[in-house]
Amino acid sequence: MEKVYIKNYINGQWVDSASGRSKELINPANGEVIATFANGDQEDVKRAIAAAKNAFYADGQWRRTDAQERADVVFAIADAIDKRAEELALAESLNNGKPLRESEADIADAVHCFRYYAGLITKPYGGVYDVNHGFGKMRSFTVHEPVGVCGLITPWNYPLLMGAWKIAPALAAGNSIIYKPSSNTPMSSAILFDIIDKIGLPAGTANMVLGPGGSVGLELAESDDVDMVTFTGSTEVGQTIARAAAGNLKKIGLELGGKSPNVIFADADLEGAVEWAMIGIFFNQGEVCSAGSRIIIEESFKDAFVKRLKERAEAITIGNPLENPGMGPLITEEHMKKVLEYIRIGKEEGATLVTGGHRYTEGACAKGYYVAPTIFDRCTSDMRIVKEEIFGPVVTVQTFKTEAEAIQLANDTEYGLAGAVFTSDGARALRVIDEIRAGITWINCYNPCFNEAPWGGYKKSGIGRELGVHGLEEYQEIKQININLNPGKVGWY
Ligand code: NAD
Repeated sequence: MEKVYIKNYINGQWVDSASGRSKELINPANGEVIATFANGDQEDVKRAIAAAKNAFYADGQWRRTDAQERADVVFAIADAIDKRAEELALAESLNNGKPLRESEADIADAVHCFRYYAGLITKPYGGVYDVNHGFGKMRSFTVHEPVGVCGLITPWNYPLLMGAWKIAPALAAGNSIIYKPSSNTPMSSAILFDIIDKIGLPAGTANMVLGPGGSVGLELAESDDVDMVTFTGSTEVGQTIARAAAGNLKKIGLELGGKSPNVIFADADLEGAVEWAMIGIFFNQGEVCSAGSRIIIEESFKDAFVKRLKERAEAITIGNPLENPGMGPLITEEHMKKVLEYIRIGKEEGATLVTGGHRYTEGACAKGYYVAPTIFDRCTSDMRIVKEEIFGPVVTVQTFKTEAEAIQLANDTEYGLAGAVFTSDGARALRVIDEIRAGITWINCYNPCFNEAPWGGYKKSGIGRELGVHGLEEYQEIKQININLNPGKVGWY
């Protein structure tokens, strides 16, 4: 792929950053420069906010469009993504480092996400209430309206897909958007905005500003001219955003980090539990918010399980993402160093390293940011590797003797994003899931995610839900409309 220069997209135009500054993008598989992008700051965001505000409030064309027309546009975006799926998957793997087949699955998922919200917006629902409050008979009903100017901030681990989860419902609902993808991974977003540009929304309706979180992202969270900010990323930055958004009490949606438990009972199918645990922790190099990073297993089953997990982890191929290995590189050198530091901490804390635990530098991987799949056994809840989100291919193993102990260990975390239970006892599966304080749970599987079902966390894993009907409602206000059925008759004073 030839080197590309990615600009910001503001008010229907591709523009350089106001400061004229740009930044290089690095291929995590080999450290080479693959693209350059216009590195924006507060000034660029202010311009985008002004354009979005004008489009929503002064012009109002998009929000006044019939749902059917908006659906047609959102369906057209989905079709265009589908047509350019190969190009998008290549850009995603080159930029993010995930194996090509995983990028292909992400792009297909993004297509379905746009289609889901295009369909959903033409099926509105609201309540109609037959009421009487001392003034005689009235009818009360509700309608859903767009929120207004929305700032959408996304991370680097699922670049296009995290964008789709926000952009599709936000546009379908009739909002204006300013989208800020991660500075590490804007390549697929640039293609998405090329698609949006060619489809031709009213100018200012969809804007994209690239640049650092601390300036571009923070300005979106702070600005009094932004009506809503939705963010997917780390819990620490989510807390900063919640504080910044308090100025005008804008609506917020936060999809944050996790340290999710994967609870395995001795009556589970061994091969099935091992394979799902692999998907739980080694998919996308472990750079997954919902990763099953804490295996909590019944003591009598542990040795057999860990032995098999080790064999399977060591069989994972590692290499160039474009050649479809089992695992590619981590996103940046800095992130790889963070993961390796956690591995050092784990050893220092006294956990037993079963496999992995090092940078992977075989052959062509020498210059990339690869980390071998890593398993730590004999872990305890007070260890930092058990408490903190590592966001890499590192899993910890803890044991339990009773169901109550399994539940206690599973909930012994400040996060509450996801969790799973493996058992052949159906009643126990539901009992344990009922007790797990997390928003997304699985029984006898790990990690599948659907556009139709709500996604989000309890506790420090976030506020609100994406996907499904809830994911559309996040981008809507509810208005109550009351009609007096007997005009003229009041008689109060
Ligand atoms: P991050 O928090 O560092 O950055 C996320 C986005 O926020 C980026 O676009 C970044 O530029 C921006 N940002 C950074 N500082 C900011 C600030 N002060 N103000 C406003 N914006 C700012 O996260 P990351 O490293 O890109 O992604 C990894 C994290 O994302 C992990 O914690 C992971 O669990 C989480 N995540 C959560 C979900 C979910 O659905 N809950 C999904 C994917 C990733």
